[in-house]
This record gives sequence, C-alpha cells and structure tokens, in this order.
Amino acid sequence: MIYLDNAATTQLSEGAWEAMQPYFTEYYGNPSSIYRLSAASKKAINRSRETIAESLGADIREIFFTSGGTEADNWALISVAEQYESKGKHIITSQIEHPAILNTCAYLEKRGFEVTYLKVNEQGLVEEEALQKALRKDTILVSIMMANNEVGTIQNIAALAAIAKEQGAFFHTDAVQVYGHLPINVKELGVDLLSASGHKFNGPKGIGFLYVDSKVKLPGFVHGGMQEKGRRAGTENVPAIVGMAQAAKEALEHMQERAEVVARLSSHLKKRIQEEIKDCHFHGHETQRLPGHVNVTFSRVQGESALIMLDQKGICVSSGSACTTGALEGSHVILALGCSEEEAQGALRFTVSHLNTMEEMEQTVQALKEIVGKLRGFRYE
Ligand code: PLP
Repeated sequence: MIYLDNAATTQLSEGAWEAMQPYFTEYYGNPSSIYRLSAASKKAINRSRETIAESLGADIREIFFTSGGTEADNWALISVAEQYESKGKHIITSQIEHPAILNTCAYLEKRGFEVTYLKVNEQGLVEEEALQKALRKDTILVSIMMANNEVGTIQNIAALAAIAKEQGAFFHTDAVQVYGHLPINVKELGVDLLSASGHKFNGPKGIGFLYVDSKVKLPGFVHGGMQEKGRRAGTENVPAIVGMAQAAKEALEHMQERAEVVARLSSHLKKRIQEEIKDCHFHGHETQRLPGHVNVTFSRVQGESALIMLDQKGICVSSGSACTTGALEGSHVILALGCSEEEAQGALRFTVSHLNTMEEMEQTVQALKEIVGKLRGFRYE
C-alpha cells in the first residue's frame, strides 16, 4: 500500500502508541479521583498540557483538550458568538474553510448571527484588503484557517489577525493542518484562539485542543463536571491526551528534517506528473503552501474515478469531489479558486508524509499515467 492521504489522517507514531498503553491498562484511574492511582493520570494530563502549551508559546491555562479539531472549531465559534453577542452579531470567515467552520457558521446564521464569507484569490489566499473592507463595528470574530486542507495554501495569519484586532474583533485560526508540521507561536502570530487535532500529526484520533488567549472570556462548551476548568466537562481521554502530547513532542523535535523530506518528495511527485502526463493543472499557491500537498486536476478525468482506480492499485489519495446528495459535486475549495465545476470534480489530492519514499512517488506517477490514459481513452477516443 502507498498511503498519500496524510491530510485526512496520519499513522500513529510508535512513540505515541507506547506512551499511551500504560494509561489503558495500568494507570486507569479517573483523573478526578483523589487516591494515588489517579494521581498518575492527573500528572500525565498536566505534563501533556505543558508540552502542548510550550510548543505554541502559550500558558498552560490557555490550553483546553477537546475531542478533535471539529469540537475545537465549534467551541471557538459558538462560545465567542454567545459570549460577545451584546457587542455585535457579525462574524467573518473565508469560503475555503473546513466544514467544521462552515457548518458551524451556518448554525450561527440560524441563531441570528450574520456571517461574511471572504473570497480568496486564484492561489487560495485571503487578501488583507478584503478583510479590511468586510470588518464592521459589530464584527466580533474573524476565523481564517492557517492552511487549507485541500490545496495547502498558507494564509498570512499574522497580518490578518492584526487587521481584525485593530477593529476590536477576536481572531480564531483553524490550524489543524499546520500544527505539528510547521512552527507556530500564538503570541507572535497574535491569534486569540487556535484549533488543532492529534491525528493530523501522528497522534491518535478523537483528541485535539483549543488554545484560548487568557483575555478571551470563553464560556464552557460541554456542561457537567469540573474537568478542563469546568469548561469542557467529561472524564478526560487520558491515553489520547498522552499520545497526542508525545506525537507533538516528536513532531517538534523533527519538524525541520521532516518538512524537508516531505517537500522533496512532493516536489518530485509534482515534477514527474508534469513530465509524464499532459493537460494537468495544479491548484493552490506555488510557494506559500504546506510542504506535503499536491492537488491536481487532469483535464477530462473525473477525480473520483481516478481515486477508485488508484485504490485498486493500493494507492490511497483523496479527490476534490464529494458525493453529498447522491450526485458528484466539485469541492467548494477548488470552486472558490475560480475553477469550473468540471475542474473541481477532476481534482485529486496527494498528501505526502515523512514516512513516504521516492520509490513510492515514482510508482504513483506510473500508476497515474496508466489510469489517466485509460480514463481519457474511455471517454474521448
Ligand atoms: N479543520 C481542518 C482544516 C481539517 O483538515 C480537519 C480534518 O480534516 C478538521 C478541521 C477536523 O478535525 P477532526 O478530524 O479532528 O475533527
């Protein structure tokens, strides 16, 4: 198998797996209990929180564990909206956000909030001028993703956050695709809230965190006991928290070398596709991008069909279309870059990790060449 879908999820690191195991079988005490068995779980949570806080340049009191990126995004948007609605009911986001943001915004619209969805340019960048123009006196929150999960474009977050703050709005960023892959310092960036997810950087699934700057008064999101300072109740998922922190530690330690390996592999993949297959169009920013993303449309080829044929050859990728209503629909991200419905339906996403090899890149290109040829032949020759 060749796994090239690392933006969807990643393989758990061995170190994370080993770190987690004792918290399933040995230190299984409820962290809220007061006997000694539980002290180990409580300590593990504290240590993990320190690791995550340190990795971001944040304070431990600013890190809240969640069930993943989706919950962190929901919490950030819904709680800021509810807490600050007396100041205004306007929120700004972008057209290319993940559904965790877009569908939360749709929910807030039903609750009487007004949401502006900023357009992006052809490379997937939110332009600073567009944000400046959209900001109003009643804007309470701006939420722009740090990097896009489909095309990999990295936004100018520090500049966007500064513009939002000048107008008195809070700034949230969905950093799910960036955290663990590129360095982030929340204070230098000037963001007020940030979401991340464990399974995107070789940690376990079902765990993530929300960073909340201490000046934001964020109300609780899950009501119940006093876990996470009473703001996110429910017995903590101790093994997952420990596994995520271990993965974060490893990611941070090897960040530069991994990013270099990944960039080398993905550049090679792109170059070889260009050399071997005619009529292809790459999406996203040329340089301001996540190192592992390659998103490409092969003209006259449906992404979904190519994906299935790649799967038959043991190669895992994603396509830019989703079967949401029984019919194929092009990705909202590719469409927002100004592409046609046909181009969006043709998009294929390859996301490389440090665990891939050059040989896998070459095998993928050869498989693609054959598949694209076949699909074009079927339909047009
Ligand atoms: N935000 C972005 C940009 C993502 O790519 C994802 C996952 O694909 C999420 C949010 C949701 O994260 P999780 O799977 O941890 O809920």
